Amino acid sequence: MSKSSAAASGRRLSVTEVLDLRFLPDEGLAFDEPLDATWLDAQLQGANGGATVFHASAGSPGTAKLEVEPLAPVASKPPIRIHGSITARVETTCVRCLEPVQQALEAQVDLTLFARADVSPRGPAERDEGLGLTQHELDEGTYEKNEIDLPSLVREALLLEIAMNPACEDEDACSSRTSAMLEAANRPASVVIDDRWAALRRMAEAAGKPPKDDN
Ligand SMILES: [Zn+2]
Repeated sequence: MSKSSAAASGRRLSVTEVLDLRFLPDEGLAFDEPLDATWLDAQLQGANGGATVFHASAGSPGTAKLEVEPLAPVASKPPIRIHGSITARVETTCVRCLEPVQQALEAQVDLTLFARADVSPRGPAERDEGLGLTQHELDEGTYEKNEIDLPSLVREALLLEIAMNPACEDEDACSSRTSAMLEAANRPASVVIDDRWAALRRMAEAAGKPPKDDN
């Protein structure tokens, strides 16, 4: 973190709100704040395609340490580098045995946003027809309307860290819980299978009966 940037907290600025560039000093802003559970829960809605529900852990669920660093005077709509780390503790259920699982997320952020209006098309080969951006600029991202959407940035960084298939750390315990569940779930089905085998067996027995000896 560079020594020159101003503390965002002293300016009542937060990563949970869109940053208006009028509040971004040329020397940059340093955010260092806790993320509360209610806000995190809202960001985690629909995480993982909704396949698994994630909740922020109670207590001190997260922190955001981000530096927003204009690479030239803000008035010139410069590229803006945003870097730092975001942590969050979330709770979900194991995809195998359905036990509660905790996950500690830690996202490292380092990206540079370009002012959308300032982006000029370059070589036709690497140009995106729709937006007039080069592929490199699309990868890095843009900002527009003199605003930086910090909440979306934090959200996306966290969602990238979320496990697609959260599972218990104790694999042995998880496996025995899972097989117990499978056993319980398969019990009625196995009865049906047994009946079918019994019927087959009777048929096989009937067919295999030795012909009556007429002697
Ligand atoms: Zn499990």
